[in-house]
Amino acid sequence: MEIIAIGGYNEFGRNMTEVKVGGESVILDMGIKLDRVLIHEDTDLSAMDSAELVKRGIFPDDRFVQGNVKAIVISHGHLDHLGAVTKLADKYNVPIYGTPYTVELIKSEKKYNRGFKGGERVCAVHPGEIIEVSKNIRIELVHVTHSILQASFIVVHTPDGVLVYANDFKFDDNPGLGEKTDYNRLMELGQEGVKCLIIESTRVMEEERTPSEEIAKKLLDDTISRCDEDAGLIVTTFSSHLPRIKSILDTAQLVGRTPVLLGRSMAKYSGIGEKLGLFKLPKATSVYGTPKAVRGVLKNIDSEGRENYLIIATGHQGEHDAILSRISNRDFDYHVRKDDQIAFSANVIPNPQNVANRYVLETKLRIQGARMIKGLHVSGHAAREDHRYLLRVLNPENIIPCHGDLLMLSSYTELAESMGYELNKDIFLIRNGQKVEIR
Ligand SMILES: [Zn+2]
Repeated sequence: MEIIAIGGYNEFGRNMTEVKVGGESVILDMGIKLDRVLIHEDTDLSAMDSAELVKRGIFPDDRFVQGNVKAIVISHGHLDHLGAVTKLADKYNVPIYGTPYTVELIKSEKKYNRGFKGGERVCAVHPGEIIEVSKNIRIELVHVTHSILQASFIVVHTPDGVLVYANDFKFDDNPGLGEKTDYNRLMELGQEGVKCLIIESTRVMEEERTPSEEIAKKLLDDTISRCDEDAGLIVTTFSSHLPRIKSILDTAQLVGRTPVLLGRSMAKYSGIGEKLGLFKLPKATSVYGTPKAVRGVLKNIDSEGRENYLIIATGHQGEHDAILSRISNRDFDYHVRKDDQIAFSANVIPNPQNVANRYVLETKLRIQGARMIKGLHVSGHAAREDHRYLLRVLNPENIIPCHGDLLMLSSYTELAESMGYELNKDIFLIRNGQKVEIR
């Protein structure tokens, strides 16, 4: 079994891995690097070919792929795991697998390539199903909790043993929306034997167990219920995080404000969730996706009394084209007033680009008199103690950390060493373009 690091091993983003067995291979994830997208904000990414997107560091460099690819499997619906599919996948001309929610997101992801032909090759895999991909490769998706619905571990069954690709998860026993992690299946896999674990390392340096979504809900309820009743209230969060959106909708009901969801991506993620019956908007809640609809409803809110509404909007990272940034730029007939409250149900993703954008956003809002309320958030990624637990359950023979810079990967290595693994013997640090052969 060979594992080839294509993207996401030098950085946070553009995840892509190839697993090769008996001359056949499967690709796991095809993501983009979001902060590189922001740097090139003025360019039309859909007009660029994939070589240009690779050169700009937005796409993983798939020239490292060794070939004879039999399938592409996507772990979950975040853009750093599926954002490159519509432009990179067509050339392989193979089935693309994911959970039903992930599959619908792939079909809707047209930003980089409106001519995506793989729509009919995208197939939904349900829990418990094992898909025969080729002579040597069968794949399975095991449900895990994360900050998006229907996230999964990809399990690759091969004659050389079982590989588990655990790229993005947390262990949340009160996720609010969606199921708990399928612990039983993970325990079975551990008992049957796991040859290799590829594992995200984003928060391994945090010495804690990542708190449940239930804690975020309590933070929201406790804070929002004590906000000024006669002022405006905007809550911004990840549009893909439907469990969080549900928590915010519940909070709106608690404080007696009418919730309004604004932004194209809010409409996309909640619309697909509703279509699949995974998510239900409360009665009298509306989603406004198009610029015209957003403009119209903000005008109404301004004239009817902002204190009656709880606006849920995109823009917590200060993205230029998001609703909150545009409100701060006075693009709409809804201007921030003194003592309006802007609540952040998301942390700043710590790269200089986001930090700078967020600084600009907050400064503009403050100048107009708004007050910031931060920290109404819990992470979607496993922390050190969650990782320790997973290692005990799966007891893998070999480990390859991914989804992080060298600091994160090496911190994971230290954790594994403390549990008896040895660098270059059964835990391997690799960089984009490198490979490991597991015997
Ligand atoms: Zn993710």
